[in-house]
Formats: sequence, structure tokens, C-alpha cells
Amino acid sequence: MKANLYGVIGYPIHHSMSPSMHNTAFRALGLNHHYHAFEVNPNRLGEAIKGMKALGIAGFNVTIPHKVEVMKHIDEIDEEARMIGAVNTVVRHEDRFIGYNTDGQGYLRALLNLVSSPLQQYDVLVIGAGGAARAIVTSLANHGVASLTIANRTVEKAQALAYDVSTLQPCHTMTLTEAEAALGSFHIVINTTSVGMHPHTDAVPINLAHMREGTILSDLIYNPLKTTWLQEGEQRGAVIDNGLSMFVGQGALAFEKWTGQQPNQERMSQHVIEQLGGR
Ligand code: NAP
Repeated sequence: MKANLYGVIGYPIHHSMSPSMHNTAFRALGLNHHYHAFEVNPNRLGEAIKGMKALGIAGFNVTIPHKVEVMKHIDEIDEEARMIGAVNTVVRHEDRFIGYNTDGQGYLRALLNLVSSPLQQYDVLVIGAGGAARAIVTSLANHGVASLTIANRTVEKAQALAYDVSTLQPCHTMTLTEAEAALGSFHIVINTTSVGMHPHTDAVPINLAHMREGTILSDLIYNPLKTTWLQEGEQRGAVIDNGLSMFVGQGALAFEKWTGQQPNQERMSQHVIEQLGGR
């Protein structure tokens, strides 16, 4: 069987858990492929991608800070990735590099496993309007939810994102303070900001005093695995979900696009938890 080389490009990249997650999944399916982390200086992104094509690399992930810039250097961009404005997965078709964004779909897949009714019955609040929020809001708007609201520290960024998805679904915007006061009106609340991430683990994105019991509280952060915000939510009766399911979900979708095979997501998840030392 042909042994393909895959990888991830980022700067820095030494912290990435993608190589061990994908290599474990390749081995589990008896595939002879390998996944490598490539540290690519932003000044050399174009050269790096030309080199990857010349070397026959079969596909790669793209992480910070290259998710937007990479779009200038590949041959084709999928419709949803174009709408999100970022590419996190590149697939080679013959001699062409095609860009996708699996972040939003990976998140959506994980969320669908968590809810008991169709998502169209849920009022959703997304906190944040950065890259991850763009992916999630676009996928949610594409899928359809009862209502979609974005709250962000810089409210103009929330308004710009709401405008960008308005052809898919109307979207409300609010300040973080307004979101705190209105929290009881949402069924699903998603933190897409970096607030609470290691090492600033005491910080919370919004206060949960007005949250309803049974609210689905989802945090994209997976280091730590249970943020202070999720801990507080759990104490107040929320159903909590950390960023691990999205990380594994986006990786599994990329894996499927590259190999045509479905990896064992439970095993991938377990592997990442072990890498994080169970934190
Ligand atoms: P980004 O594009 O830099 O966006 C950061 C967002 O956080 C912005 O909305 C920003 O608000 C907000 N923010 C940052 N510091 C803040 C503070 N002190 N107070 C209030 N808001 C603050 O970053 P990103 O790529 O979207 O990533 C965001 C988080 O998602 C990170 O923790 C990342 O690790 C996580 N993530 C997880 C996955 C996964 O697979 N689980 C995937 C992607 C990202 P302003 O607009 O006002 O600056």
C-alpha cells in the first residue's frame, strides 16, 4: 500500500497534538501513512506550500497564524471555507491543493451528539467573533438553529460576522454585559474566546448568574479540559462540553477527506487526554 505523508503547518507548532493523534489513527487502521508537524515562518508560507506540492505531500492541516494567508497559495477553496474566510485542511487532488474548513463541521458533529432534539429548536448564543467563532457560526447558520446570537468584547466584529452569515440565517448581536443579563433565554451557550485557557485559568468569558439549569454550556478550550467557567456552569446545573470533541471532530473530518476512512474518534479523544496528562 502507498505510504503518504501528511502534516500540519503552523508557527510555532511544537505544542501541536495533531501528529500523535493522526499517527495513532493511521496505525489503528493499518495505514502506512505518516503525519508530521512543519514549523513554517509566515515569511516563507508560499515557498513552503510549493515545496509541499513538489514533495508529493498528500494533504495537510493549517493552524495559527496561516489559516487565512494560506488561501492565497492553494488552487481551490471550498464554499464553506470561503464563507468562513479561513482554511484548516488541504486535500491534494492530483496536482491541485483544495482548501476546506473542518472546524465548524467538526464542532457541529460533536454538538449534534449532545442534543436530544433537532438543533432547529435551540436558541444559541456564541461568545466571541474570532476565527473559531466564524467557523462555528457559519456551520450553525448553514445547518439552521431556532435563533443565533453573537456576543463579543468588540461588538463591531460580532456585527461583521452576523452580516457575513445573514444570507444563511438572521443573527442578533449583543455586548458581553447584555449577554450576561439575557443568559436565561438561551438553550446552548458556546465560548469561542480564549478566556480561561492555560495559563490564565481563573478567567471566565461571562458571568453565569442568570443561566438556566439544563443549559448546554460548551467551551472550545481543551487545556484545561474543564475550565473554571465549565466548573461553575456544572455547579449551576448546566450540561457541559469541552473543546476536545471539536478538536477530535475537525481532525476526524480531515482524516476522512484524506483517506476515505473513518477513524475511531473515541480512541483519538482518549489519546489527546493522555497527551494532556488528564488535565
Ligand atoms: P481569535 O481569532 O484570536 O479570537 C479570539 C476571540 O476571543 C475574539 O472574539 C476576542 O475578542 C476574544 N477575546 C480574547 N481575549 C479576550 C478577553 N480578555 N476578554 C474578552 N474577549 C476576549 O482566536 P480563535 O482562533 O478564534 O481561538 C479562540 C479560542 O478557541 C482559543 O482558545 C482556541 O484555542 C480555541 N479553539 C479551539 C479549537 C478546538 O478544536 N477545540 C479550534 C479552534 C480554536 P475581540 O474580538 O474583542 O478581540
